Amino acid sequence: MRRDVVIVGGGVSGAFCAYEMQRAYPEARVSIFDRAPSFGGRTAAFDMGAARPLEGGASFVSSAHELVLRLAHALKCTMTEVRFRQVGLHLDGDCASPYRLTQGLGDGAFTGAALQHATLTKLAPQAVAAIAASDGAAAKQILRSTEIDGRALWRWPIGPLLERLWSPEQVRRARNTHGCTSNFGAANAFDTLLTAAWEGAPGQSFYRFDKGAGHFACTLAEASPEILRFTHHRLIALGRCANGFVLSFSTPAGLRHVEAGLVILALPRRALNLIAFGDDIVGASFHHDLSQIIDVPAFKLFLEFDRRWWDDLPFTLGSGDLGAVFTQLAAQQNYFENTAGRHWMLAVFADGENALYWRSLLEADGAASVTRGAPMGATPAHLIAAAHRHLEIMYGRVPAPRCGVYADWSAGWHAWRPGARSWEVRERLVQPNSNLPLFICGELLAEHAGWMESALNNAEEMLERASAWLAHTRARTFLPFVNER
Ligand SMILES: Cc1cc2nc3c(=O)[nH]c(=O)nc-3n(C[C@H](O)[C@H](O)[C@H](O)COP(=O)(O)OP(=O)(O)OC[C@H]3O[C@@H](n4cnc5c(N)ncnc54)[C@H](O)[C@@H]3O)c2cc1C
Repeated sequence: MRRDVVIVGGGVSGAFCAYEMQRAYPEARVSIFDRAPSFGGRTAAFDMGAARPLEGGASFVSSAHELVLRLAHALKCTMTEVRFRQVGLHLDGDCASPYRLTQGLGDGAFTGAALQHATLTKLAPQAVAAIAASDGAAAKQILRSTEIDGRALWRWPIGPLLERLWSPEQVRRARNTHGCTSNFGAANAFDTLLTAAWEGAPGQSFYRFDKGAGHFACTLAEASPEILRFTHHRLIALGRCANGFVLSFSTPAGLRHVEAGLVILALPRRALNLIAFGDDIVGASFHHDLSQIIDVPAFKLFLEFDRRWWDDLPFTLGSGDLGAVFTQLAAQQNYFENTAGRHWMLAVFADGENALYWRSLLEADGAASVTRGAPMGATPAHLIAAAHRHLEIMYGRVPAPRCGVYADWSAGWHAWRPGARSWEVRERLVQPNSNLPLFICGELLAEHAGWMESALNNAEEMLERASAWLAHTRARTFLPFVNER
């Protein structure tokens, strides 16, 4: 088979690339391939008869996420506003009941988001002013040249930097009240604080897709009927042929080779690492550049109950409210809603070390069926029992769950290593060989890790670069449709 444009990876980034390439070059023969049984990648959801799909991956979209909102509108994927309510914290063995989060956590303590904001203000007040004036470029410039103790911000791991600036107690409290504990660990301080500033921008409201984020990604992948789509195709090798590339896929029916003029890889870091690239396809720095990206594990576990026992807790949720409790236990975050129908709650939403705790329980079970990076349905009884124990520590007596579903992501999102100049590495990885139409995009290169919007922004920038390459004379040897235009 020969195609003009081949996109590998059917998550939201790859689906967007296919959609945009087909729109920009209607004559081009575009195909998209994914190793999984369906498209959507990290937007996978479970339909468990709850009022809405249980999102194993992405779920929230901010009013500031202009590209996602624009696409959702064009594709008629409707959304409903969700109001986050931090209804409690469970810290330091306060087992009676979650107490309400008011102004703060005690003397000099900050919540996670507040500590990150205070850190930015302490280190680079001009960057905070630039962000407030919506001048992201200036803020980045300032932060790139910010130094602490004679060491550039991008050379600092965020955890040690926070400990340098704040007391251990302040850092501990902040980490235990933040959705992303990895933001307090080994990642590069420049990228972590930049993402925190973007996430924490004031005046945002939040939405969820009525049919789930996975439905949005799949609708995007299916929006152009001309695009050929293939699931169960895992790319294992990429080589050259006379006028383009040859891609080798592992499929249930055996090895399959596909020729292509232009290739876009919209894949996570680990998947890129596992591909065998032919000689001279990627430059010498490629694998070193990839090693600058860290995988952050993430884990979600939903539990179903016979009744909505959280109605008895000391908080009241209105329609559209999503109540969150943060804890230093490995469950990390619990989410409650008062929807009608079956009674599901998100009992565990953990990342980093906490996610590894839940994974270790799966491994202890010898659960041979665990597939890294792929969401799963069946939940072992002892995993449910462990989550139930966590809930009882936090809330007292909790009825036994009926069942559960979990999603275990070896790379829920990515982060940058200290010492990586992410802006330069990103620039090299987008097109690893300037002589070849091979492009890379997706969340792994997003400026703000862990968000669909930023993954799509990165894909959009990559497509501009691909278009510029297509306008170049060399493109004609690879892509006949360029000649036809
Ligand atoms: C638990 C969790 C919660 C999140 N919450 C939010 C949120 O609330 N809001 C938000 O905006 N974002 C959220 N995100 C982030 C969001 O899910 C990602 O930014 C986005 O989905 C990334 O899309 P992508 O296309 O770049 O990558 P992916 O979705 O990872 O797509 C990559 C695709 O490549 C395929 N693939 C891998 N290897 C191969 C191979 N060798 N050959 C062929 N195909 C391959 C995979 O099957 C996958 O479909 C969350 C993520 C997680 C894990």
